[in-house]
Amino acid sequence: MQFEVFTLLPEIFPPYLESSILKRASERGLINVRVHNIRDYTHDKHHTTDDTPYGGGGGMVMKPEPVFEAIETVLGLSSLTTENTESTEKIKTASVDSVPSVVNSSSIPIILLTPQGRVFDQRIAQELSQHPRIVLLCGRYEGIDERIREHLVTDEISIGDYVLTGGELPALILIDAIARLLPEVLGDPTGAQDDSHAMGLLEYPHYTRPPEFRGWKAPDILLSGDHAKIEKWRREQSLLRTFNKRPDMLEKAELTKKDLKFLEGIKVEKLES
Ligand code: SAM
Repeated sequence: MQFEVFTLLPEIFPPYLESSILKRASERGLINVRVHNIRDYTHDKHHTTDDTPYGGGGGMVMKPEPVFEAIETVLGLSSLTTENTESTEKIKTASVDSVPSVVNSSSIPIILLTPQGRVFDQRIAQELSQHPRIVLLCGRYEGIDERIREHLVTDEISIGDYVLTGGELPALILIDAIARLLPEVLGDPTGAQDDSHAMGLLEYPHYTRPPEFRGWKAPDILLSGDHAKIEKWRREQSLLRTFNKRPDMLEKAELTKKDLKFLEGIKVEKLES
């Protein structure tokens, strides 16, 4: 899978991408992250990428010209103008403001990292992992000129309800979460299946050697070698954790009759205690 990252601070990316699992995934050709410096697409003497906001106020705004040119060049898109985006503008006017508008001819998602986007989760990571190539656009300062969002971007993603100084960490978070869902990226091919959120539940607890540490023992069942019992214990621990920590997730999780019976038991126990 190919990630095309557009940023004013490309130097942020290599230290993370050149470590551990992402490094190996890259070396094995499972992912390819290309980081593009938006500043390379400026044409003035000072390589200006930002300007003061119209209407006044503090902060700077990322200019549209270098961002459009950078993404259009890398994706091989023809220049978007009022003429060739007019029809889609009509669709956008009719749609809810927060729904991303598809205004360019590219089928490649052009994702703006923004605290105003849909909040990233495992489901969105799964969805994006189905694409062979995605674009991640990192904002800085007060953000980007609105025309970039309106006419170039096809999706907007937030990593949570807080504001960071730039979109680079959010972009790395997306790359990491998506990459580990791709075939062969994790050493254990089933590694991502049991993860928290993958199946709508939190994952069961893990233990490793030693069997006893400072008097605290690992559960006997995990050392029993009885795989059926271990699987049952893990499922129940998953349900118990989700019930205790994130009961909201149980409403959407796919639960079997056995799961529901187990949860009923927990509720009764809780009422009695
Ligand atoms: N003024 C903007 C607003 O209130 O929506 C926030 C701008 S923020 C200081 C600068 C950049 O950081 C944004 O353009 C975006 O790319 C990135 N950013 C900040 N918080 C983010 C979040 N929660 N999720 C994704 N990107 C974020």
